[in-house]
Parts: sequence; C-alpha cells; structure tokens
Amino acid sequence: MLARKRILAALALAVLGSTAQAADEVVVYSSRIDELIKPVFDAYTAKTGVKVKFITDKEAPLMQRIKAEGENATADLLLTVDAGNLWQAEQMGILQPFTSAVIDANIPAQYRSSTHSWTGLSLRARTIAYSTDRVKPEELTTYEALADKQWEGRLCLRTAKKVYNQSLTATLIETHGAQASEKILKGWVNNLSTDVFSDDIAVLEAINAGQCDVGIVNTYYYGRLHKQNPDLAVRLFWPNQSDRGVHVNLSGIGLTKYAPHPDAAKALVEWMTGPEAQTIFSGTNQEFPANPKVPPSEEVASWGEFKADTIAVEIAGRRQAEAIRMMDRVGWN
Ligand code: FE
Repeated sequence: MLARKRILAALALAVLGSTAQAADEVVVYSSRIDELIKPVFDAYTAKTGVKVKFITDKEAPLMQRIKAEGENATADLLLTVDAGNLWQAEQMGILQPFTSAVIDANIPAQYRSSTHSWTGLSLRARTIAYSTDRVKPEELTTYEALADKQWEGRLCLRTAKKVYNQSLTATLIETHGAQASEKILKGWVNNLSTDVFSDDIAVLEAINAGQCDVGIVNTYYYGRLHKQNPDLAVRLFWPNQSDRGVHVNLSGIGLTKYAPHPDAAKALVEWMTGPEAQTIFSGTNQEFPANPKVPPSEEVASWGEFKADTIAVEIAGRRQAEAIRMMDRVGWN
C-alpha cells in the first residue's frame, strides 16, 4: 500500500514536473549555426531559468518541417536570415502575427514585418568592397555606377541564386522601376571579370588576389576575413550616401503559427531586442544591432558610419520573384 502511494506520488511529481518544464521552455528552429545563437540563449536561460531548445538546419528544410508539423508544432520560433526568407515563411502560412510594445519600441518599423509576423534582430549591410591596391575610394559612388564602362572586367559578384542578391535586386527594382533596374543589372553582368562565386568570402578573396577590383558583399564576411587576415588589401565602401543609402538586410525571428509556448516565445523575442541580447547576438557575427540604441562592437564601428536605405526590407520578399526573373534574363547566374 505504502509502495503504491509512493509510486502515485512519484507519478504525480513527474507529471507536474513535465508540465512546469513545458511552460518554461522555448523551441527555436534556426538557420543560424549553434555558435551564433547559443551564447544569447545561454544568457537568457541563466537570467530567467527558461530553457531554449534549438535545432539548426538550412532555412528551406526548417520551413518545410514547420509546415509539415502543422498543428502538432514543436517549434515556437523560426530564426533565419534575410527579409526575403522571412517573407517566404510568412507566405507559406507558417507564422502568426504577434504585437509587442517592447519590440515596437526597440526595433525600427522598416526592420519588421508590416503584418507583425517577424522582427529583425541584427543588421548587415550588403555593400561595395574594393581593392586598396587598384581602386581609390573616390572612384566609387553608388551600386548603380558599378554598371559603368569604368568597371568593365573588374567586378566580382556572388551567384544570383543567393537570397542576398535577390533582395538587393528587389530593392533596386523598388527604387528605380523594372526597366532602369534591368539596365543596371545588365551593366553589372557585362562588367564581371569572371564567373560568379558561390559565397561572399570567395568574392573578397578574389579582390584580394587581384582577380577583380570591386565586389558586393555582406559586411560580416568582411569582418570574418579581416580578422583572419589583418593585411587584407580590401576595404568596405558605403555607396549611395547622397541618395537612398546602403542596402541593409537582417537576421530575424518569427513566431510559428501553432507555437506550443507562444507567451514564453514572445518573452524571449522581446528580450532578444533589448540591449544585453542585442550586444551578444550582433557581436557573435560582427553585425549591427537592429536596436538603434545599442552600439555595435568596436570592430564593426571601425568600418565607419553610413546612411542606410530607409526602405522597408520586406520589399525584398514582395519583389523577390520579379528580381529572380530579372537576374535570369540578364544572365546573372
Ligand atoms: Fe551569410
């Protein structure tokens, strides 16, 4: 009898335990790798006791998995890069809107979804990189000017298959319209010194090695390579400072449609937009905090200040299909 009572008590405790644990955890599906997200989640757990479980994979399989799980969702949050990807997730119907005065106060509207399905967490500029041996910064002005004759056989680009370039093109179309944008893209493709590269680091290395003189890359890749090789003969240039400004994109997070722990998930996202998390999260990848009240790391600050395009980044998603078709037409592989 006593033994039975003990077993029942143990069972009751186990049930209570699992209920308590279920409420005190958040599950994140992340296309960002462990080392970029774990420090911020660890800090949150240390502070609140809430466990953050995460699975990392490429964004497409993660999004498919959330879609397939449907109402039996295990993920509360989808963490990924590029407004183009977050917009895709929204279109797939795997996110739900969530409003928060804290997030609204911390993150500028241009870096959030207009339907409140996701918010930016960190920013990266997709900007011009140039050879310090063969280019004077005074020769550079705008992204558009890289289509000029002056850069013939001197430009390196990453593949058009990468969402970063699709988003850049989408904002170009939003700014200039289709006809003018296509002309610019044609100019870029005409000016290529060699085949497109599979990643931004390869673009930077090609500039450093003398294969080309200018390219377009995300700032954190420059940060990464520069850290490895302080003698890198490549610098970043901030284009379009007298007009629309530099193209800025983001990493961001969205609440899944059937999140099992929506309140705990929302609390985590709110905290992630605040000063402590912003410093850790942007610092791990040499990005800019999306919260403008939080200063970037010393290394990132050393690249200098710039005017960013004020365009709402979700345009990257809205015009993505159009951008892909245009890139294809001009022969940007
Ligand atoms: Fe990247």
